[in-house]
Amino acid sequence: MAYPWRQFREDEFWRRIPLWRDVDYDTFIDHNWQEKNAIVSHKKLIRTIQDIADSAFLNDAEAGFRKAPMTVRVSPYLFSLMDWENPFVCPIRRQFLPLASQLQPDHPMLRFDSLGEQSDSPVKGLTHRYEDKVLFLALDTCPVYCRYCTRAYAVGGDTETSEKISIKASKNRWQDAFSYLREHKEIEDVVISGGDSFRLKASQVKQIGDELLSIDHIRRFRFATKGLCVMPMKILTDTAWTDAVASVANKARSQYKEVCIHTHFNHASEITKITQDAMNLLVCKGVKVRNQSVFQTGVNDDADSMIELVKKLSHINVQPYYVYVHDLTAGTEDMRTSLQTALSVEKEVRGTTSGFNTPTFVVDAPDGGGKRCAHSFEHYDRETGISVWTAPRVKPGQKFLYFDPLHSLSKEMQLAWGKAAFRDEMIRNALRSVK
Ligand code: SF4
Repeated sequence: MAYPWRQFREDEFWRRIPLWRDVDYDTFIDHNWQEKNAIVSHKKLIRTIQDIADSAFLNDAEAGFRKAPMTVRVSPYLFSLMDWENPFVCPIRRQFLPLASQLQPDHPMLRFDSLGEQSDSPVKGLTHRYEDKVLFLALDTCPVYCRYCTRAYAVGGDTETSEKISIKASKNRWQDAFSYLREHKEIEDVVISGGDSFRLKASQVKQIGDELLSIDHIRRFRFATKGLCVMPMKILTDTAWTDAVASVANKARSQYKEVCIHTHFNHASEITKITQDAMNLLVCKGVKVRNQSVFQTGVNDDADSMIELVKKLSHINVQPYYVYVHDLTAGTEDMRTSLQTALSVEKEVRGTTSGFNTPTFVVDAPDGGGKRCAHSFEHYDRETGISVWTAPRVKPGQKFLYFDPLHSLSKEMQLAWGKAAFRDEMIRNALRSVK
C-alpha cells in the first residue's frame, strides 16, 4: 500500500465482534457507551469473543488475568481493533490483555516503583525531580489499563498479585500540591497525569487549569492522557471535557503561556478515522498534542512499524516527541527489549521525516535519574545487559543502572543472573567502569 500512514480505517470494524454486531456508529462513538462496555474481567472477555476466539486463547487469557499485577480494562474501541484472527501476536492485544504463556519471570533487579517517583515526592501525588518541572498525579484511574504502566504502584485497583497506594482525586491533596507549586518559584512546567486526565471531570480540568494559570512562574503545563489512543471518540462526544481543555489552552495563550495534551500511541493500527476526526477538532480549537510511545517487543520494535507510527502521528498533527525504552515494570518482561534494539531502530527512524517530528529515544533511568537520551549511556555491556547512566544536573555524582531483559541475553548469561554472588559482581564491575 502506498503511503500507509495516510490511510485511516473508516469501516465499522467493531461489528466483527459478535456482541457488537448491531451497534451503530452513533452508539459506538458515545464515550459513555465505551466506558460502560469496557472489558474488565475474564468472564466479560469470554462473553464478548467466545464465538471468534478458540479455547486455547481463552484459557491462556484466564490464567494471564489471574497473574497480572495490573488491573485489566480495555475499551470496546481498542478491543475491536485487536486482530482476532491472530490474537497471540496482535500488537494491541499484547499491550492490554496478558497471556500466561507469554509472561516471563520479572528481572531480579526490578522494583515496584522502578523510577523512584515516591522518593522524589515532597507532597503526596507530586514528584519534583527536575528543577523546573513537576509531575502532578491528579487521580489514579484510567479509561483503560496498560499492562506495562510505570505507575502500577498506584494506578488501577489492587489485583491478586499487587496492592496499590492510593492517589485519589481529593480537594485537600490537590490544595497541598498547589501550595507547594506556589511556594517553589523555580517550577515552570507541570505534567498533570495519574491516572489519566480523560477521567477528570470538565469542572476539574478547569479548576486545575485556573489554579495553575494563576501562578505567575508556571509557564506551561500538559494534560497527560492516553485517551486519544484508546477512546478518541470522547473528544467528539464529551464536548464539556473538550471545551474545558480548549478554554484552558486559550486562556493560557492569552497569558503568553502554553497548555497542551500529551498522549500515548504505540502502534499505527491504533489510529483510525475517529482519531483523525478527534485530532481535527482539537487542531481547530487550537489545542497542541504531542505523543510519547513505549518501545515494546512485537509492537513497535522494528523500524518499519516505528516509522509508520511516527509518520501517521505527524499526518494527524500529533508531534511524536519521545520513545521510551521500556521501564522495568512488574509482569511485563516479555514486552521489554534490549537497549541495543532501541538504538538500532532509532538510527533507522532518524532521517525519515522532519527533525521536529523525530522522537528522541530515552531511557528513564531507574531509581530517579530521569530521562536520558538512549545513546548517552556511560557504559553498556551487551553481554551482561547492564548499562550505567549519569544525570549530572538532576542527581550529580550518582550512577544509575538499566538492565536488558534476561530473555535477550545468552543462555549462559541468564544462568549467571540467577546466582546472587555473580549478579553482584557483574553490577560492581559495571559501576567501577564509570569514573
Ligand atoms: S493510561 Fe497511562 S497511567 Fe493509565 S495505565 Fe496506561 S500508562 Fe498507566
